[in-house]
Amino acid sequence: MRKKIVAGNWKMNTSVEEGILLAKQISFLTKDLENGVEVIIAPPFTHLAGVSQVLKNEGGKVHLSAQNCADQLSGAYTGEVSAKMLEDVGCKYVIIGHSERREYYGETNETLLKKIEQALSAGLSPIFCVGEKLDERESNRHFEVVAEQITEVLYKLKGFDMSKVIVAYEPVWAIGTGKTASSDQAEEMHAYIRRVIGGKFPALADDISILYGGSCKPSNAQEIFAKENVDGGLIGGASLVAQDFIAIIKSF
Ligand code: PEP
Repeated sequence: MRKKIVAGNWKMNTSVEEGILLAKQISFLTKDLENGVEVIIAPPFTHLAGVSQVLKNEGGKVHLSAQNCADQLSGAYTGEVSAKMLEDVGCKYVIIGHSERREYYGETNETLLKKIEQALSAGLSPIFCVGEKLDERESNRHFEVVAEQITEVLYKLKGFDMSKVIVAYEPVWAIGTGKTASSDQAEEMHAYIRRVIGGKFPALADDISILYGGSCKPSNAQEIFAKENVDGGLIGGASLVAQDFIAIIKSF
């Protein structure tokens, strides 16, 4: 079954104290939520243990995600954090392949596949990000680029594993820029992504949640989430302000 999901990607923001406070506010404000939306927050690594405790104390309605994981199981990989460690600390999800990781840290499709495999074998659901850059959209290659990101990574998974994956379509030109894809542009790409997934996993395509990300905010979430193939959002900037994040969650 396709789930409605709103996930907040905090990126490299907030002190531990601020993060704990934000997690408490989000937990409190979502307590009586009854619109069936799965709420996820993805704080920095250093915050995960503390935030995990907060979420457990508050009743476990908000789920924890990491923003990245290692492409290896364990061992001599200084500075890395394994998927199993994330599962140990209470994560249920991990964001993989965010455009900032692809662009600033050189993460390739090959690395991303390894990360997804690590996440899945640790019992985490990957939130796999895809999306085209501005010049790729302007030269009308956006469908081709996104299809390649999917076929080179997700097509290598087994159906059972694919059923645990969430896809986030994040046009790079819309991330943190204030420019949002129109709801029609989002729907067009989400429907396309579903068709591409169906090319390899026909029985699953309808059940995979596909989130939109890129300057999503309270003022545009409702229109975007109303589209048939948009199952929620991956929210950056607006997820750092509890009231805005809640307003987005309530846009369903
Ligand atoms: C993101 O980084 O995943 C994102 C969608 O950021 P923003 O909402 O700030 O554009």
